[in-house]
Amino acid sequence: MSAVMLPRKVTRKWEKLPGKNTFCCDGRVMMARQKGVFYLTLFLIIGTCALFFAFECPYLAVHLSAAIPVFAVVLFLFVMAMLLRTSFSDPGVLPRALPEEANFIEMEIEAANGNIQAGQRPPPRIRNVQINNQIVKLKYCYTCKIFRPPRASHCSICDNCVDRFDHHCPWVGNCVGKRNYRYFYLFTLSLSLLTIYIFTFDIVHVALRSVDSGFLNCDSGHCLVSLTPYCTVIEVLVCFFTLWSVVGLTGFHTYLISLNQTTNEDIKGSWSGKNRVQNPYSHKNIMKNCCEVLCGPTYPSVLDRRGVMAEDSLSSTPSPPTSDVVATKSNPVTPNTKTTAPLIPNEHTPDEAKPSIAAAAQKTTKEEKVSSPRDSGPKVSPAPIVVKESAH
Ligand SMILES: [Zn+2]
Ligand SMILES: [Zn+2]
Repeated sequence: MSAVMLPRKVTRKWEKLPGKNTFCCDGRVMMARQKGVFYLTLFLIIGTCALFFAFECPYLAVHLSAAIPVFAVVLFLFVMAMLLRTSFSDPGVLPRALPEEANFIEMEIEAANGNIQAGQRPPPRIRNVQINNQIVKLKYCYTCKIFRPPRASHCSICDNCVDRFDHHCPWVGNCVGKRNYRYFYLFTLSLSLLTIYIFTFDIVHVALRSVDSGFLNCDSGHCLVSLTPYCTVIEVLVCFFTLWSVVGLTGFHTYLISLNQTTNEDIKGSWSGKNRVQNPYSHKNIMKNCCEVLCGPTYPSVLDRRGVMAEDSLSSTPSPPTSDVVATKSNPVTPNTKTTAPLIPNEHTPDEAKPSIAAAAQKTTKEEKVSSPRDSGPKVSPAPIVVKESAH
């Protein structure tokens, strides 16, 4: 009797990732855990458009033009595509340091700080890098155990460091960062157009019907027609309140893009000039800044969340249940996570730690290099960054 070989369950990296994210479709879809407001966004967009298609479009197609519903459908599909692309993608999460890498960086910091007497406050964990002749501070993340790359920040809701962190948007149910910012912007822009479009044609519809037969005198006996005034009022109200917020938000992000700045940097006043630090990422040209943010290359995810876990890392420690894994407060770094750590290597880095560090650094270097539209433009590249030990 031959032994029956049972197929071994493959464990993918997303199952062991720390941070407060949820995954579906075997790691292809990644979102924040709190999704209530995202469902409200879906409900408002789909609901308002459904009312428009059901009650206004048939009348407008007959009395004005068949192109009106066609354009509305195209715009609606584009809005939904941009929303889902923003919500379901990796915003640019940076992997946490492996335990051995975290230990090494701790040792390095302790060595740099020297002996600190009892009761004395340790100096802040900061490293300085030079970008386009500007000194930019890299802060240490105590949760991810890494020195964050420039422009990265830790999202307290998702519990991850996100590269080129803009903000956490509950309306899209995800962080907005390096990998999904342009889709977020296109979503707000197209949603503004869709809202203006529906609002305008609601008013046109009311005006045409009023001229025809009196808008509120829909006494044809047809239930759809008799419901029309109420649905139009709901649409007008939703569009009216959406208009102010979404158009305002689009205007604000257009301003940020023209300066090559993030919401996070704007709120913190990172480049406000009070510290004599100008934005080293700005090309000092609105068109160049817009091109870089909106038309630059798309960046690959550094999480490799669908990669298969190595067997030795699985067997070394008992694994938690394979649902959405959350790092507990006491043990924020899951030892099973086999990811590359975005540490900044320097001359003290031992050889065995360099491959994983180099992999992360190389990726960033490649991305940043491509992101400069021209060689003559301001170079935003960590490659020429001079990593200096902090003064402490
Ligand atoms: Zn972090
Ligand atoms: Zn977040």
